[in-house]
Amino acid sequence: MHEDIETILLSEAQILQGIERVAAEVTRAYAGREFTVMSVLKGSCVFASDLIRRVPLRLELAFVAASSYRDGTTSGRLDVNYFPADGEIAGRELLLVDDILDTGRTMLALKNELVARGAASVRTCVFLDKPARRAVPLQADHSCFEIEDKFVVGYGLDFAGAYRNLPYLGVLRQAAIERRQAHQASRAAATGRA
Ligand code: 5GP
Ligand code: MG
Repeated sequence: MHEDIETILLSEAQILQGIERVAAEVTRAYAGREFTVMSVLKGSCVFASDLIRRVPLRLELAFVAASSYRDGTTSGRLDVNYFPADGEIAGRELLLVDDILDTGRTMLALKNELVARGAASVRTCVFLDKPARRAVPLQADHSCFEIEDKFVVGYGLDFAGAYRNLPYLGVLRQAAIERRQAHQASRAAATGRA
């Protein structure tokens, strides 16, 4: 897996430093309040689990499943696959956590939906921010790192389902992208979903 990486953008140690800083911000923002960390699956589960263990407040954890990328590196439509029960949303103070703010469509759509379902407040927290790509007016309340407009993998972020378990953030070699695409195509053909 490591041989597929062309460049390491953020090492594991650098990542943890950024998370410590944001965890301190979140701790200040919610001091004295009970709140729920709502992690957007699947990409933010690695970030969310490192973040919550550095926030010494009474918090709950919830998940929402939404994606706007489908086996590729260009932005697609938003798919909402799973929403928590209304009891976990209505009247709650929510910290919506995602892996990366790219066009911003995923986070904005989710934020609006949570407000419509009665959330008392919704703040946003992302591991990465690609401001150059923003297509809707949304700024994260908390962000660990700003990166340039490159497709990145690792630390929860995938390419066609793979590489989420890399402990650092990197950019893939072109050959690895092509190999994974061919693998996906043959798997789709084998299951009749070409
Ligand atoms: P947005 O709705 O902001 O355009 O897209 C956000 C989602 O797109 C992220 O949650 C993530 O799943 C995906 N995404 C955006 N940029 C990247 C990237 O550079 N690498 C990976 N692996 N996923 C990305
Ligand atoms: Mg995502």
